[in-house]
Amino acid sequence: MSDIKSSNSSEMFKSILTKTKTLQTLSQPTKLPKLSHKATSLKTNILIVGGSFSGLAVLRLLQTNLQEHFNQARLSSGASNDETAKRISITLVEPRNGLLNILGIPKSIVDTEFAKTQYLPFNKLNHVRFNNIVSSEKPEVYADKENGETWYVDDAAEFPDVEVTFVQGTVTYLDDHKAEYVLNDTKDDTAEGSTATATAASAANETGSIDFDYVVMASGRDRNWPTTPSANTMDEYLQDMNKSRSMIENANIISVVGAGAVGIEIAGDIKLRFPEKTVNLVHPHEVFPPEPLSLEFKRLIQDSIERAGVNIYLNTRIDRTKSSDTGDLITTETGKAIPSEINFWCTAKHNNIAFLSPKIASKYVTHGQINVNEYLQLHSQAIQGQSTNTTLTTTTVPNFFVLGDLVNLPIIKSAGWAMYMGRQTANNITSLIFEDTLIEPLPNLKEMPRGMVLVGGQEEIVSELAGEVSLNHEGYKKEYLDYCIGKIRATLDA
Ligand SMILES: Cc1cc2nc3c(=O)[nH]c(=O)nc-3n(C[C@H](O)[C@H](O)[C@H](O)COP(=O)(O)OP(=O)(O)OC[C@H]3O[C@@H](n4cnc5c(N)ncnc54)[C@H](O)[C@@H]3O)c2cc1C
Repeated sequence: MSDIKSSNSSEMFKSILTKTKTLQTLSQPTKLPKLSHKATSLKTNILIVGGSFSGLAVLRLLQTNLQEHFNQARLSSGASNDETAKRISITLVEPRNGLLNILGIPKSIVDTEFAKTQYLPFNKLNHVRFNNIVSSEKPEVYADKENGETWYVDDAAEFPDVEVTFVQGTVTYLDDHKAEYVLNDTKDDTAEGSTATATAASAANETGSIDFDYVVMASGRDRNWPTTPSANTMDEYLQDMNKSRSMIENANIISVVGAGAVGIEIAGDIKLRFPEKTVNLVHPHEVFPPEPLSLEFKRLIQDSIERAGVNIYLNTRIDRTKSSDTGDLITTETGKAIPSEINFWCTAKHNNIAFLSPKIASKYVTHGQINVNEYLQLHSQAIQGQSTNTTLTTTTVPNFFVLGDLVNLPIIKSAGWAMYMGRQTANNITSLIFEDTLIEPLPNLKEMPRGMVLVGGQEEIVSELAGEVSLNHEGYKKEYLDYCIGKIRATLDA
């Protein structure tokens, strides 16, 4: 399981490995009621932290893979359902009760009708239904509807041997065998709702713990509001998007600070919907975006944004301590003021890793990214000793997988990679459970073509893939009509 290679022949290798569980040794999962409003403690076989692109990809393929193995075992042994029954339990912890297509956020913040298409409640995704839900939301949210709409698996379940629990909350602690979580602090929207509010608040304050055999950490990264909305439901998401739209409507000069992919798209979308307003895009360097892509691509996206009428300030660094969310922006170098009314800060992002146990964080995190091996298992290496007498120690935590934006790998982070890793991890966990072996390493990343697709000014599509730069590539134009949501659903089979 270790991928360490060394050129120093005097080095000694020490690889610390522990065993993962197989079907025979998996823990007995806790039986839960269909709906719980309190943070209960439970035991599960596979915990997934985060239910977006990578988390849902791993969930969907685990359901299919595991069920296929059970079906196959029955076929070859001729046993009945009851004889081979050993349900595997998967628990998904995610504060949102749906998939938010973050790719469509720049357009959603100015177009509320479009925004409605970019949040897919889990019960609107194919095959994503739950056996149990733990949530502080009002009971009616998850009640079965008269029209047959449901959040739950039905009696003729598609995956009878795979039980899925949805915990609508946030993981607050994680090590290699245990997690702790809190439920959402639900907002009360009734006038006389003081009792409901108190109940929700106390439910949210309580901590539940989850013991697991395997964990998949897929908690991604957050950015400033509204790029990362604070919403946990469709209604809250639309409130967020309405709020951002009316902030823009009420201002004459809007500035976007930071011309990474997000800042570029937000500036372009604001100018397209509000052509009469002044839109600034301010960036501290000569070219953008910062990813290792060709100068041709960078010039093309700048040209697209400029032609659309966005004012671009290059080599301009804003003093964050002297500039706020509203009002003029003050530059660091000269103290000059750039007139502005509303400012969108697209300068920072952080990986959601604060809940890792101190022991894991100190050993496996480098600059906010998590170190993994080619199977995406938590992995570290350390050289001890001096000169010719050194020992290279590699440590792998084989039941702990890390996916998507969190990993410390030389790739341009994308939803595509996140879903790829989800599929790969589902294959590896299935194989560990049934065959006690890993089957699918990452491809050679040095040979993988780098690429990026950006929505520029006037909804132009600027792309680079494997060195080929295009304006309005026909294939990407089609994919970005719905901001890839159709392609994402097809990839997830959801
Ligand atoms: C504006 C914008 C445009 C983009 N455009 C593209 C594009 O065109 N193409 C492309 O391929 N990529 C694009 N990306 C990048 C892409 O969105 C990310 O690479 C992708 O979202 C990573 O997926 P993920 O599953 O790793 O994490 P995320 O999508 O970040 O999801 C993480 C999930 O974990 C949950 N979570 C966080 N903390 C916790 C916790 N403590 N407990 C439980 N759950 C938690 C979050 O609620 C979230 O649902 C874009 C990103 C942005 C911001």
